[in-house]
Amino acid sequence: LDWGRQIAEGTAREIAENPEVVRVYLGTGGAATPRAARATATEDRPSVLRIEGLSVDYGKLRALRSIDFELREGEIVAVLGANGAGKSSLARAIAGLIPCAEGRILLGSEDVTRQLAPRRARKGIALCHEGRRLFSELKVRENLELAAYSGASTTHRRELFERVHDLFPLLRERENAYAGELSGGQQQMVAIARALLSDPRIVIFDELSLGLAPQIVDEIYRAVDQIRAWGVSIVLIEQSAYRALSVADRVYVIERGRVSFNGVSRDLEQEKALRDAYFGTREDPPSPPGATTGGGSGEA
Ligand code: ATP
Repeated sequence: LDWGRQIAEGTAREIAENPEVVRVYLGTGGAATPRAARATATEDRPSVLRIEGLSVDYGKLRALRSIDFELREGEIVAVLGANGAGKSSLARAIAGLIPCAEGRILLGSEDVTRQLAPRRARKGIALCHEGRRLFSELKVRENLELAAYSGASTTHRRELFERVHDLFPLLRERENAYAGELSGGQQQMVAIARALLSDPRIVIFDELSLGLAPQIVDEIYRAVDQIRAWGVSIVLIEQSAYRALSVADRVYVIERGRVSFNGVSRDLEQEKALRDAYFGTREDPPSPPGATTGGGSGEA
């Protein structure tokens, strides 16, 4: 189903190969997609975030297993995968919202694995949550003021506000509107601005384009490019794979809690690798021993 409309019917394999299903799950796709058009060589840059052997558990469920991940200065790194693959768990673990069962997280050279979320936020990690999570009964301006970096000087605070208002002029025009009155795209702009007002070194965007109209997604992706140009490093978690690949320098594909692909975006040319990760069509799917692993839709 897509937006309440049946788009395909058949065996699992037929569904995985159906072009309409692929379009809906992976974004626009196909040869016409300007994949990684602006990808730059970033291997020489210093790392801002490094994750080594990260595992995350929810009770007995091991949602992430031995994840190695790196984000370098000024990079956009996409994290792709099906529903339940573990993308949001990775975002939450980086931000400090859920504990790591194993492994460590380094911000620059500092080990932040045991630090709580507010401390990591002050050190420059911002998370723009899936589903936005705004205060709907507060005004746009109030949502942003709550998020503004408390340690910043008045001048710096003003600069940060100017910056997000220039990025999305609509936020200035609608500053007295209640967040709950805004469209989904406008709310996403508030959520992005809120993340930026903490003056982060790293922003993690979780499902930026989910449920938004294509024109709004274009506008939001232009903003992502601009944010990178300010020197902020970006982790871009997306289900809409091709959209993310069009801006990302590198990409990780997560499949059932493990990294199944890690490389530069253009090497993911093989649509097959993506389809395997999204539709579970791999001949020998990774089936980790021990605790049950997440990854529901991969088994559909
Ligand atoms: P989606 O796009 O659907 O959010 P995802 O790739 O972000 O998927 P996660 O939300 O990280 O995946 O979920 C990974 C696994 O962990 C799934 O099996 C999910 O059911 C499970 N999980 C996520 N959050 C919790 C939780 N709070 N308690 C128990 N299990 C959870």
